[in-house]
Amino acid sequence: MDEVLCCCGRPNDRTHCPTCGSFDTAAKPSKAFKVRTDGGGFKKIMMYRCRKCGKDFDDLQISVCWAPPERRGSRDVKQIERTPNPEFEGLSLEERIAKAKEILSRDKKDGNDSTTKPS
Ligand SMILES: [Zn+2]
Ligand SMILES: [Zn+2]
Repeated sequence: MDEVLCCCGRPNDRTHCPTCGSFDTAAKPSKAFKVRTDGGGFKKIMMYRCRKCGKDFDDLQISVCWAPPERRGSRDVKQIERTPNPEFEGLSLEERIAKAKEILSRDKKDGNDSTTKPS
């Protein structure tokens, strides 16, 4: 079977925790159970335990994985986004808001007033 990606972006051929996405899982053969399939047969469902978050899950839950997407550096990106603008440094909240409005109107003017006469 070709490598199929799970909805969380992890390879589907490796069992991973549908809660946290960790590959560090342990199968629990003694807890395996069978479900009836549409065709009238039975399908064996394996139970697992995530060693990272401690959650139990089974083969059925893997298909509805809600683990956070595996993206390295996504945290860093957020931190960069949250880095305060140096223009805002040392200003109070009200001053920041005023400054932000000023910057916004300034940008707007730069974009719109290029053809109009300077006042
Ligand atoms: Zn997944
Ligand atoms: Zn987990």
